[in-house]
Amino acid sequence: MRFSIKCLVLIGISLCLYAPSVFAQHTVSRIEGNNRYEVAVNAAKRGWPEASTVVLVGGDAYADALSAVPYAFEQGAPVLLTNTGSLSGATKSGLQQLKTKRVIILGGTASISEKVVTQLKAMNLAVSRIQGKNRYELAANVAKQMKSAGAAVVVNGSAYADAVAIAPYAAKQGYPILLTDAKGLRQETAHLLKSKAIKRTIVIGGEASVSKTAYQQLPSPVRISGANRYEVAARIAKTYPMKTSQTYMSNGYAYADAAAAASIAAKQGQMLLLTDAQTVPGAIKSIIGTKKLATFSVVGGTSTIRTNVITQLKNAVLGETIFIDPGHGAQDAGAVGNGLLEKNVNLEVALKLQTRLNQAGALTVMSRTSDTFDSLQTRVSKGAKASADVFISIHANANDHSGANGTETYYDATYAAVNSLKLAQKVQPRMVSALGTRDRGVKTAGFYVIKYSKMPSILLETGFVTSPIDASILKSTTVKDRLASGITTGVSNYFESK
Ligand SMILES: [Zn+2]
Repeated sequence: MRFSIKCLVLIGISLCLYAPSVFAQHTVSRIEGNNRYEVAVNAAKRGWPEASTVVLVGGDAYADALSAVPYAFEQGAPVLLTNTGSLSGATKSGLQQLKTKRVIILGGTASISEKVVTQLKAMNLAVSRIQGKNRYELAANVAKQMKSAGAAVVVNGSAYADAVAIAPYAAKQGYPILLTDAKGLRQETAHLLKSKAIKRTIVIGGEASVSKTAYQQLPSPVRISGANRYEVAARIAKTYPMKTSQTYMSNGYAYADAAAAASIAAKQGQMLLLTDAQTVPGAIKSIIGTKKLATFSVVGGTSTIRTNVITQLKNAVLGETIFIDPGHGAQDAGAVGNGLLEKNVNLEVALKLQTRLNQAGALTVMSRTSDTFDSLQTRVSKGAKASADVFISIHANANDHSGANGTETYYDATYAAVNSLKLAQKVQPRMVSALGTRDRGVKTAGFYVIKYSKMPSILLETGFVTSPIDASILKSTTVKDRLASGITTGVSNYFESK
């Protein structure tokens, strides 16, 4: 009897081992090139096997590129860039590979010289040019060439980042992107709005970009603004939904890559988000988490989007809100032993965990960050208020017998039982291998914070402060660092397996 049960367990385990597991791991691809011209060509090739028409803008003329995307989209054309003085080599071969027949230049000769026109004509291409006395007039002239739409986007002509984030949506809707300055509504823009009988406007940027005066002169305006370009991009993504199966990302300060990214995103009906070179900004993490985005294409080389961003984008914890609750605090020391106060051990581990999770791309909220005390009820309500995706309470254990030692993880079955157990099962082995302690396994108990937290929640007992063995392990800073990264890996694995 005993033997056959053992067999069944063994069979069960081996079935589990061989069962195909579904991993919701994020996937990331990169569109790059030796320079901005090649990046734009490679982005175009991703969306257009052939492009009989191409919209060409100056590689240093971001103002011209602002209004290009909706217009190019309407023409079924990708946006490519060139040097001002002569046609860039990458662009020339790109035009050949895309079997282009017609090039529409946006901008005057200061952005794209007549020599470039001559070179294009020598390639048997039909060339036309839309220009204006300044960026405002150019944008208006581009809009004039577009089909009539009920609405238009208005941005500051010097704030390209605001324009690129809305560009894919504007393109999809057929809305032109018009420019104004901080002082007031530009005449060029006012005329265009009137002549096209535009009824609604979407203003991107705060009052420092598009003033109150300008705003009040616009037809039925709505404003999207934020503390920075990332927040603006995140709000655009929230307000004007696009497809989420492939999210494009470009550096918020590399306009040439952003224009190419906006062009391909528009073509595919996907959204474009902006990132820092080093790390995914908080507002962007947040929208990635809310929209459950998992497939990304970054546009730009490793100097504009560094490997760390790719690592974060690949991590399933990206954009998830993790509530970290260091147990006890202030007058409540928790367990005491071997010169350790549990409240301090818990806080040290929690702060290290916060750092690791943030590095991995998570959003973290702490119940406490110093030696303060919250009731158990307060901890639970803080977690709920943070709309946390998971709740992790950090503790250390105690026993009357100094021989009791080891690491365990608790969950409670009242709410989110399946996912709480799964989270516990992912974190427990990572803790044990980081600490080198005895594995006491995953257990269930109705501890207040995990019983009343409605999201998946676990309570970690890192080790026994009353055990000389565990206490010496818990005293080591290196071990606590390792523990924090172990828990982070466990949490990432949990989100991967969801
Ligand atoms: Zn405790």
